[in-house]
Amino acid sequence: MKILVVAEMQLGKLKPSNGAAVRFAQDLAAKTGGSFDIVLIGHGLADLAAGLNKYGAGALHVIDAPRFENYLPGSFCAAVVGLVQAEGYTAVIGGEATTSRDIFPRIAGALGAGMCKGVSAIVDAGGGVAYQRAVFSGMALRTERIHTPIHVLTVDPTAVGEPAEGPAGAVKAFAAPGGDDDSVKFVERRRAESGRPDLAVAERVVGAGRGIKSADYLETIGTLADKLGAAIGSTRAVVDAGWLPNEFQVGQTGKAIAPKLYLAIGISGAVQHSAGIRGAKTIVAINKDPEAPIFKIADVGIVADLFDVVPKLIEKI
Ligand SMILES: Cc1cc2nc3c(=O)[nH]c(=O)nc-3n(C[C@H](O)[C@H](O)[C@H](O)COP(=O)(O)OP(=O)(O)OC[C@H]3O[C@@H](n4cnc5c(N)ncnc54)[C@H](O)[C@@H]3O)c2cc1C
Repeated sequence: MKILVVAEMQLGKLKPSNGAAVRFAQDLAAKTGGSFDIVLIGHGLADLAAGLNKYGAGALHVIDAPRFENYLPGSFCAAVVGLVQAEGYTAVIGGEATTSRDIFPRIAGALGAGMCKGVSAIVDAGGGVAYQRAVFSGMALRTERIHTPIHVLTVDPTAVGEPAEGPAGAVKAFAAPGGDDDSVKFVERRRAESGRPDLAVAERVVGAGRGIKSADYLETIGTLADKLGAAIGSTRAVVDAGWLPNEFQVGQTGKAIAPKLYLAIGISGAVQHSAGIRGAKTIVAINKDPEAPIFKIADVGIVADLFDVVPKLIEKI
């Protein structure tokens, strides 16, 4: 297959999910006797492009223009589709992240291509390839096959390893077709500044559930997170209660994270939440209910009242 990896960036940084996309492209190229290239879209990309060009891609396409300074679905989709058609790619791959969830279905639609979302493995299928992905919040694996000439895939970054390093490819500037996307205009970006690590990539995360009883206790959770150098995450119950904004939600309809340590505090461990922490290396759960499902996936379980344990942890760390 002739594969194109669509690399993502945000606020001038490459997203960690690119690594999984490149790794999947390397594996798919090896399996199908094909090759892979990478494309990066944005403005002022010279330094970032260098950081991507170390994985053995045949070419690194750079689409660099002021109109790509901020992500807009229409113009970014048109740029990728133009490149796919110009170069004859047969697979388009990206890491599963917020922007790719938006743009990849558009790319598939524009190319008339079949798409599999959140794939984790490649399987042999009658002379071709099929893709495996987790369904039902990670409770089962499903194998899907694409029957169109072009395959569009997003890759589950919590299920795929790091890419192998390789020689740099030829850097090629691509003049994307189309003008400004006039159906949607970028207006402004507002960011919540917390000073804590980014939840999506943090090595340690303190997760708060409804067991904390009220938003007031988030101050104590924050003290624990700061002692650990951790990000704060939460369940949907906490978001629905208005205690934390939506970007803190971990799970099926929130972020999928893969920290080295996930400390689940007052979290029951519903499948929709657990789906977002499948990639965590060590899960420590504090819950007063010994039957709470979180203990089925926890590496360390503390059956206790969180209001007793959390202050003691803060004191000891
Ligand atoms: C379509 C769909 C998508 C969803 N997506 C998500 C998602 O992305 N993320 C997500 O998180 N949820 C999601 N949910 C909701 C999910 O099903 C659960 O309702 C939610 O995760 C529960 O959150 P919780 O564990 O904080 O609350 P609860 O289930 O109420 O659990 C609270 C826990 O705190 C414990 N507790 C209470 N007091 C104490 C104490 N003093 N000390 C110690 N422990 C205590 C209790 O024993 C209990 O286990 C989704 C649901 C649906 C239907």
